Amino acid sequence: MIQASPKTLDIYFIDVEGGAATLIVTPSGESLLIDSGYPGERDAGRIAQVALTVAGLKQIDHYLTTHWHLDHVGGIPRLSQLIPVKHYYDHVLLATLTPDIPPAPIEAYRQTVQGKSVALKPGDHIEMESSKNLAPLKILVLAANGIVLGEQPGAPQIKPCGPNFQPKPEDKTDNANSVGILLSFGRFKFFDGGDLTWNIENRLACPKNLAGAVDVYQSDHHGLDLSNNPALIDALKPRVAIINNGPRKGGEARSFATLKSVKEIQAIYQVHRNVRTTEKDNAPSDFVANDEEACQGEFIKLSVDSSGKSYSVSIPSKQISRSYRTR
Ligand SMILES: [Zn+2]
Repeated sequence: MIQASPKTLDIYFIDVEGGAATLIVTPSGESLLIDSGYPGERDAGRIAQVALTVAGLKQIDHYLTTHWHLDHVGGIPRLSQLIPVKHYYDHVLLATLTPDIPPAPIEAYRQTVQGKSVALKPGDHIEMESSKNLAPLKILVLAANGIVLGEQPGAPQIKPCGPNFQPKPEDKTDNANSVGILLSFGRFKFFDGGDLTWNIENRLACPKNLAGAVDVYQSDHHGLDLSNNPALIDALKPRVAIINNGPRKGGEARSFATLKSVKEIQAIYQVHRNVRTTEKDNAPSDFVANDEEACQGEFIKLSVDSSGKSYSVSIPSKQISRSYRTR
């Protein structure tokens, strides 16, 4: 009998031009999509194309909205018409929305989930199938609703901690409520913090480094300088960073420099070249999925081998692939 070659755990960073859409597909074919880009046809279409055609999925098993901003929740109503979505997760959806949350996409979300979404809190897991023959898989919620693992609801946003503690003014937007997850697959670790901002990022790192060192970091908040607190990046010590920016949103110079200054960093990938900064503030073109603003919406693919010991990052449209060892 011929044995099928062991499958990989794949993570697709889909181009939604400054929004977020991160599709995780386990070796057994179970899927988790984190965020769905902006409303309209473009982003839902791109996500569906990767899910159906590239990843060969028939459905999205789990869908997580990290928070209620347009560039994260916007695509799901249309996407759910293009591919079935089975389980929905978010942080709490309050009856009264804060001014930064646009009501129309939230109403569309409510109609899509029909009351069947699960509100996550720190310490929760998104349960996904593990198999005996593969590295164990775990998806742990580290932050949600403005608190991090181990804190009580209502914890103050600004908590002095760490040698270089430098808070920013309190973030009253829903970014601070983002669901932040740590995926582990054997020794491989991946952190996706949605759009978590500076003060919460400090609490993820101090007094306890809640994520520990990771292999791959999806830059918080598209690589905007409101986020990507050096305290968190020092704690995560990523070897590979992936910035899900758009041509004119995110991938900012200070955040890029912070990532570049990490001692162990081996590569920084960008979904887009930032057309507003200089060459030195961008990764070389070989590490950028979309060079031009008028783009084809090319994605970045990461594949972790079935043991969790190594992974590759590729830009399929450029036929570029590089391998990395799990730490
Ligand atoms: Zn965002």
